[in-house]
Amino acid sequence: MKEIIKSSHSKLYFIICCISATIICTFLSWILFAHPLNSDKTFKIKKFPKPTTVTNLAVTRRPEVIKANMILAPDYSLPPIQNDMAPVVYRLLTNQKIVFLGIDDGMFKDQSVIDIMQQNNIKASLFLTKSAISGNPDFFKQLTAQGSFVEDHTISHDTKMVTDEDYSQQKADICGMADYEELHYGRRPTLFRPPGGAYSDSLRQAAADCGMKAIITWVAKANGGLMQYQIGDKLRPGDVVLMHFRPEFASDMKSFVEAMKNSGLHTALLEDAI
Ligand SMILES: [Zn+2]
Repeated sequence: MKEIIKSSHSKLYFIICCISATIICTFLSWILFAHPLNSDKTFKIKKFPKPTTVTNLAVTRRPEVIKANMILAPDYSLPPIQNDMAPVVYRLLTNQKIVFLGIDDGMFKDQSVIDIMQQNNIKASLFLTKSAISGNPDFFKQLTAQGSFVEDHTISHDTKMVTDEDYSQQKADICGMADYEELHYGRRPTLFRPPGGAYSDSLRQAAADCGMKAIITWVAKANGGLMQYQIGDKLRPGDVVLMHFRPEFASDMKSFVEAMKNSGLHTALLEDAI
């Protein structure tokens, strides 16, 4: 009988201990997590802000805001080489909301250029000239690693090559730069931009004979921190835009990106389109 009573007491103690422990644990949990004194921000889940529109190119870290370098489906075919002359392109007639950026020469080689291109997810055709880059051609490998393409802008950068040079000299000027770029960047350029933009039938033949698919000029410029338009007052789908590697690179890029945004456009690569 004593053993039965003793056993009943043990069970009772056990149940009381379990209930007490549950009450203590519940109380401690409430103190730790639910008490008003502990409603510090560190217990709240932070919500990430929604992406905002890019307003400052120098500091933006949200390249996904600009859907750059996208061609949904090619809807443009380049005119063929006719009479041994490369076609001339300053705008691609496309229904897609894209523009094309060509950045010329290569004089200004500052790390900020690499950062700005990266931060804004801009890829471009780089029309480089030997006199501007030969001191440090490797600088531009950082841009080709980001997806930009190096293209041909002659060895001499003679803006009067149309009249100063005969066909054989023009060909040497274009083919020589193609050789140099192929050696340094591992890809032979396929697009040619004449220094100053002037061209002739002879120059178009020389470009074609150097393997160029097209002569690329432009219809708008980002220059001196402003946009300059040859037609109208805003960017249109398919426009080719000219920029340079100059000390005002940041402000030029800012004006270009603002112009794209105002027209609802983003960049694509000529190399993907033609
Ligand atoms: Zn140039």
